[in-house]
Amino acid sequence: MSTFLLPVPPEGAGTSDVEALDSYLDRLAAAHGIALSSFCRLLDDWWEHDKPVGEASLGRYIGHIPKCGFGRDIEQLVKVLETGTGFRGLASMTLLAFKEVSGRHVGEVLRHVHHWCPACMQEWEQGGAPAYEKLLWRLKPISRCPTHRIRLENQCPHCGGGQTRRGDHPWFRCSQCFKPLCNDSSRWTISLTAAPGEKDLIDVLAFCATNPSYVFRRDSPHRFFHAIKHELDGKRLANSAGDYFHKRDIPTRKLVGSLLRIAQRFQTPLTDLLVDPRQAAAARPLNGMEPKPLNLHPANKAHDHLVRERVRQELEVALQQGPEGKSLAQICREAGVCKSSPSRWFPSIVASLVKHQTELRDRQRELDLARLAAITLEDLLTPEMQAIGWHKLPHFVARQWSVSIYIARKRVSVLRRTAHPVVTRSSRKTKPR
Ligand SMILES: [Zn+2]
Ligand SMILES: [Zn+2]
Repeated sequence: MSTFLLPVPPEGAGTSDVEALDSYLDRLAAAHGIALSSFCRLLDDWWEHDKPVGEASLGRYIGHIPKCGFGRDIEQLVKVLETGTGFRGLASMTLLAFKEVSGRHVGEVLRHVHHWCPACMQEWEQGGAPAYEKLLWRLKPISRCPTHRIRLENQCPHCGGGQTRRGDHPWFRCSQCFKPLCNDSSRWTISLTAAPGEKDLIDVLAFCATNPSYVFRRDSPHRFFHAIKHELDGKRLANSAGDYFHKRDIPTRKLVGSLLRIAQRFQTPLTDLLVDPRQAAAARPLNGMEPKPLNLHPANKAHDHLVRERVRQELEVALQQGPEGKSLAQICREAGVCKSSPSRWFPSIVASLVKHQTELRDRQRELDLARLAAITLEDLLTPEMQAIGWHKLPHFVARQWSVSIYIARKRVSVLRRTAHPVVTRSSRKTKPR
């Protein structure tokens, strides 16, 4: 089968530092000297024209979706890229191994904004190596670079801007000021402690990188559970595993986050639990692993009188302070109590605080809306504002008029509709001839 794709090798293949599939597509597009959207169209045309009989088409929205999770479209994309580039094992650049064992919503574990390790970026720049985005950086439980023990960054070191995913410029340049996302080492934050789940995810990625076609079996968590069931008596069973192993009519699939919690709860490496659950269960007592106790829900904690008293004082202060006062959620967070506890302890104070603050908020919203109603399209059509682009206008308006982003968005969308009226079917019908 002829191919137009240049053989760009994937970075970090076979290790836990494997490249994310999004990043690989970005680099492929750059190697062909075209934007990602054009590259995806070209790829689609080529596959449609040359694909073997009976092969499925490439997903329609492949250029617009994150490509690190799993799903039929991503699976097909991996196949197409493997055929085109000649490289095998590209499935390890995604979470395809989880397609059976985990639910569809990998969104809970995948990041949709860029995060990167500044030290890795600097090393690549100094060594002249191609910069790529590691799959690890796309996973929410990973908050630091395991190699350099530096906290991952997500804001441009030059303009402080947050990063958006856009296909028309390389991801290692800021999406706002287009400067490289590298900074000097004096601004790096050392992070010595691993976040929960970090080690498990690195292990899983390393396993998938060396076994790219492996798919974790759907029943692995249940098989693990059945093998350890005898260790837990009835009551402790509910406490230990009830969350994860509910008996339901239709079997449900676990989220990747739940799988990580099971691994932590039973102090078993996630890879072992998913690959060979019986062996993992048998090894636990040998290693002297007791299930970690669950944290008590904050609502069930017995709070002493001092905490209650402090909360009461805070509530009364907030009630007197008006709009500047702390919210109920903030007071509870600071005192380390559950949000429902103060309403049990001091029902009348909490009720009046909530009512008071809701009224204040509503009044403020009306004032803000009235203020923004005075903005006209002419105010926004200055050359400076036009350079910003409509999509960033709400942020600008919110900053300039110091209102919340929701209210700014509301006003901008009204102005936008008047600028570009939508022609609906009904309005077309009523048009005079
Ligand atoms: Zn690093
Ligand atoms: Zn920037």
